[in-house]
Amino acid sequence: MLFAQPARETGQSPTIRPLAMVVGPTRPAPSVLARLAQPAPPINDPTFIVEIGTCIRQFRALVGSTDSSVTVVPGTGTAGLESVAVSLLRPGSSADRVLVLSTGMWGDRWADICGRNGIRTKTWRAAPGAGLDLDAVVTLLAAEHFQAVLVTHVDSSSGVAVDLPALAGVMAGRDTLLLIDGIAALGAEAVYQDCWAADAYLSAPPKAIAGPAGLSMTSLSRRAVALLRDRPWSIGCYSLDLEPWIEVMHAAERGEFGFFQSPAGCLIAALAEAQRLVIEEGLTARIARHRTLRDELHEGLAVLGLGVLANRPSARANGVTVCMPPPGIDPVRLVEVMAREGVIIQSGTHPIAGGSTFRIGHMGNVRLDDIRCTIDVIGRTLRELAA
Ligand SMILES: *Cc1c(COP(=O)(O)O)cnc(C)c1O
Repeated sequence: MLFAQPARETGQSPTIRPLAMVVGPTRPAPSVLARLAQPAPPINDPTFIVEIGTCIRQFRALVGSTDSSVTVVPGTGTAGLESVAVSLLRPGSSADRVLVLSTGMWGDRWADICGRNGIRTKTWRAAPGAGLDLDAVVTLLAAEHFQAVLVTHVDSSSGVAVDLPALAGVMAGRDTLLLIDGIAALGAEAVYQDCWAADAYLSAPPKAIAGPAGLSMTSLSRRAVALLRDRPWSIGCYSLDLEPWIEVMHAAERGEFGFFQSPAGCLIAALAEAQRLVIEEGLTARIARHRTLRDELHEGLAVLGLGVLANRPSARANGVTVCMPPPGIDPVRLVEVMAREGVIIQSGTHPIAGGSTFRIGHMGNVRLDDIRCTIDVIGRTLRELAA
């Protein structure tokens, strides 16, 4: 199936098929695609170095920091999660575990990543669709010293957005790092890294930033950078270590060349353009737009009698919805039949609720008419399946 550029963006008909209402990769703007078609510049080319610096400054602005150290490195989002874990967390220390607050598959995955790297963890799991239980978190933090708390801002398997201001509140003043997976959040949710005193806010381009897959961006606090530079343990891997990147990135911000591993040239250029478009739209306007898309979708789902997994309105993510089909309708079948109609949604991935849910992505360049078309096709498909 060919995912052509939407016809309406080339000035033709308003409906596009296939319409990908997915968590990622989301539809990039034409100007972002154009960047991917350019040859990668030499890695020490001065204009390319300026472009890396631009990506860094834009990312810092998007996460709400004024003076963080930003890394933009090749790899998937998962590689980014592993990179943050192995770079900042001390393995083997049972007196100093890591607390993972999991609201779905991505929290569970971060805990798995830690486990495989010998980092001892305690995993607290929210019930499917629930956000954080702050009382439980306070009790856990009081009972034991943790070297870090790991949390997923928006878990795309549950559609839950966690209340980070509240979590930051209970962590304030503690000698515990706060590391956040913002891959499904940045560009659709408000992020205030400095206010939250978050030590790492990690994201990736192909979700609400609507950039290309293949990079991860991490914004690190001064405390995190100090720890990286002075880790009292030796790290067991090479390519995922963020420490050597810090100097390379600082150099790029000054317009100077530094080297650790080869940067992904075309991806950097496309990310700079995708982030520029986010900033041009304005973060506040963009977040409001995503909220409107979500509300319109949720209203349409309610009319069709479909429930949303995220159980409290305040915990519902702006860019992804995990839905429950009516009794007797198999979500996998629903996804298949909709694909035949040219609307691509995704089956569930939540560790517990995955088999009884399906997912709709509404982030990046999704528009209201895409939401209306999706609701329309869901309605028709449900009637067909029930007949
Ligand atoms: C998509 C996603 C990731 C990582 O994605 P990759 O497939 O490894 O690029 C991590 N966390 C969240 C919340 C995601 O939505």
